[in-house]
Amino acid sequence: MAAMKRVFALFLIYITTITTSYSYELIFPKKKESNVSSNYAFFLGKANNSESIVINNTRVYTAPNGAFAYSVKLKDGENRVLIRSNYSTQVYKFNKKVKPAENNINTAPTEFEQTLAIVKKDNTPLRSTPIDFGMNRISHLFKGTNLLVNAEIGDFYRVFLSKDKQAWIMKKDVELLKNNDSDVASFIGMDTKKYSNAQQQSISFTKKLPYVIEDVEKEILFRVYNPELSPTSFYTINIPKPEKYSYKVDLNDGMYDFKVSAIPEKIEELTVVIDPGHGGSEKGAIGALGDLEKDINLKIGLELEEILKSKGVNVVMTRECDGNVSLEDRVDIAKKNNANIFVSIHLNSIGDIEMNNHKNRGTSVYYYNNNSKNLAQILENTITKSSGTKKNGIHTASFAVIRPSEYVGVLVEAAYIVNPLDSMLYKKEYFAKNVAQGIANGILEFVKAN
Ligand SMILES: [Zn+2]
Repeated sequence: MAAMKRVFALFLIYITTITTSYSYELIFPKKKESNVSSNYAFFLGKANNSESIVINNTRVYTAPNGAFAYSVKLKDGENRVLIRSNYSTQVYKFNKKVKPAENNINTAPTEFEQTLAIVKKDNTPLRSTPIDFGMNRISHLFKGTNLLVNAEIGDFYRVFLSKDKQAWIMKKDVELLKNNDSDVASFIGMDTKKYSNAQQQSISFTKKLPYVIEDVEKEILFRVYNPELSPTSFYTINIPKPEKYSYKVDLNDGMYDFKVSAIPEKIEELTVVIDPGHGGSEKGAIGALGDLEKDINLKIGLELEEILKSKGVNVVMTRECDGNVSLEDRVDIAKKNNANIFVSIHLNSIGDIEMNNHKNRGTSVYYYNNNSKNLAQILENTITKSSGTKKNGIHTASFAVIRPSEYVGVLVEAAYIVNPLDSMLYKKEYFAKNVAQGIANGILEFVKAN
């Protein structure tokens, strides 16, 4: 009887082993039960031996290499999702938190008496709306800038620039001066400098003042406001823009130096910074077959480095191995090396929790400033052509590495790492090389040097 029990126990172990090793591997989610705030539960994994995977009665598409991805819409509260394969059924539970009503969305700002505020640190965003994300930055102010604020809403103060122009700044970024006995800023002087491929205009005042930068049709406009002097007081610098350009503002001894530069057309004068996304403990996204985004990004980056160097381009890498590099350091590397072009390399994952993300695929290119839109458009064409990915459009996005205007900056999402069909492409031996070739072709086409 004892022997019989042991056989039975062994038999059970055998069955269990078969069930787990011959069905599928889930890469995501790892936990059987989780608390979520998103509207969808996302499943990513690999079916072994082309088993069929059924999630909540829907047969899920599985790529020939076994990769599958699927998202299930969640209702508030408890949700049970059943995953069936030939040998097993597993239950995943998601507790979706009921979202609290958002504050301040429809509330009007509270007005108060005009007060002087001083900007606490360099590179503080001045925004067109009282929201701390998105495409609403109108400039970045220097530490010590004098502002007038006259209303508040949520985490923001409203900034009075002129009778026709207001902006928003985060409360934490400024210090209010209740007793303002300082003098009103006055204009000191202007200066113009011309270089072979750049033009600089400078303007100075007795105090640091707020400014905005606008990229209009034929020129870049730099406007400094002096609202303490009068509600109509501002000074405008217009610099005509070359076909391909970058621009920046520096503050040197109280002088704002506003410079617009042409992107060099000679290859040997061109500096390209290649930025393989993530690295080290920052793995980035993960694919259905377990591939890590950071590894593929680096492979593409290194291939691109080789191709561009062989053409004579001056190349700087933000990382050349699997290590952590902060976003600030990536931008600093580009600025210190006077980058003309900055290419950040990524693979896409879930971008928008409101969508059926498992259907997204292909190459997308992101840019922030207008001077980078043309390169983004060219790259979408050249990358899809050389790597066989689908076109997924060019888009604006406020990513830290592509916000600076002193270089043409793009962020390439070469393919969707979570998409099963795209996994058929990025698992190919020459994928990294082909994407790199597409990026190199696009950069050369952009500078018109090939
Ligand atoms: Zn990424």
